[in-house]
Amino acid sequence: MRYISTRGETEPLRFQDAILTGLAPDGGLLLPETIPSVAGELESLRGLDFRALAKALLPKFVDDIPAADLSALVDQAYAHFDCPDVVRLRSAGAVQVLELFHGPTLAFKDIALQFLGRLFAYILKRRGARLNILGATSGDTGSAAIAGVRGQPGIDIFVMYPKGRISRLQELQMTTVTDANVHCLAVAGSFDDCQTLMKGIFADLEFKRRHALGAVNSVNWARVLAQVFYYAYASLRSPAPVSFCVPTGNFGNVFAGYIAKRMGFPIARLIVATNENDILAKFFASGRYRRGEVRFTVSPAMDIQVASNFERFLHYHLDGDSEALKAFMADFQASGEARLPRPDDGAFLATAVNTEDTLAAIGDVHRRTGYVADPHTAVGLAAAMRMAAPDPLIVLATAHPAKFPESVSEALGASVATHPALEALRGRAERCASLPAKADRIKAYIEAQAT
Ligand SMILES: *Cc1c(COP(=O)(O)O)cnc(C)c1O
Repeated sequence: MRYISTRGETEPLRFQDAILTGLAPDGGLLLPETIPSVAGELESLRGLDFRALAKALLPKFVDDIPAADLSALVDQAYAHFDCPDVVRLRSAGAVQVLELFHGPTLAFKDIALQFLGRLFAYILKRRGARLNILGATSGDTGSAAIAGVRGQPGIDIFVMYPKGRISRLQELQMTTVTDANVHCLAVAGSFDDCQTLMKGIFADLEFKRRHALGAVNSVNWARVLAQVFYYAYASLRSPAPVSFCVPTGNFGNVFAGYIAKRMGFPIARLIVATNENDILAKFFASGRYRRGEVRFTVSPAMDIQVASNFERFLHYHLDGDSEALKAFMADFQASGEARLPRPDDGAFLATAVNTEDTLAAIGDVHRRTGYVADPHTAVGLAAAMRMAAPDPLIVLATAHPAKFPESVSEALGASVATHPALEALRGRAERCASLPAKADRIKAYIEAQAT
């Protein structure tokens, strides 16, 4: 299997190169040249547990790593989840909830990043190479990325976050990781400052090359691929084609569902549930893609305007026409707005949920069913209630409610969300460097610490 760029100006890459590259050199995103079909083998896949299913699917996308090694990577990646089958399907009234938050940082990003961290280490070892990962986080991604690579040979990770502007729990999830290859940088500035610093440092190509600087952001194909596993898993456990309702920010999660659907898994519809940052909901309603100001909501991991993975969907929506795709992206870049015919193949539905409805959904679902949802999952639950779709419906639960205790207490009037792994962080030793929002200071720190 080779990987091609959405922008059509990159020579096709083998899987391992696609993973190390991340973003394609032409600025596009990488996609498999063809999507493998499972139409003829659904019955034999149906009985498999999560890990076995992952092992059966990976070789369809990866032909430059032996199947036995892929299988070992799956076992290592999913060894630290606190439920037997990695994810858990539960009922919450009329809908089912697929809990994706049983990994080390209690958010769905663990499913992809636990796998990606080990995959990176495996590829680097075979090549005798090293990697210094640099990231900026406003919360969830940083801790999941750190948990994915802590202790992995050949990799150091540097994560910048805005000092005093992320929740204390999320900070502790990063700073209490004391493995020597993990470096937390509390930056005196905002999250935007951190992102600007990151762009500036990556733009210094000499520095980037000298320190083998890389990223683990959501454009890496392995993140999408690892997320396909749970759509496959849940769809095969349903008696009829199932629809998934997906709390959406960067479009990475729901895009994995789209790949699973195109592979032939029994998936009816994908419901894109956004918060007040509703650019995607509007696109699926009208074909108009228009950037707005980022709004801060109770589901911060979805406070995103421009979803990086959306370009992957555009590739299919435009039948692989990379010229049309580049024109669309250029329009959008220039004016903050671009248009296309509305997608009408019935694969996607979309809706935006405001803060009031999100908090109401937490309360409503708890009253009716006893289920406690986090605010991201609640965006999905609220969207699902609006849809009244005829098919069986599964809402993806993307974070444990104990990660967002303030919003959950506000919705329920009582604090019912705790988790022993989070409680255990309080009082533990922390390690982090406080630095000014200055690129030269951050670079000097990386220079001194990188191995
Ligand atoms: C990252 C995240 C999301 C959004 O997922 P995308 O792949 O960016 O659409 C939703 N919920 C939680 C808890 C997250 O951490």
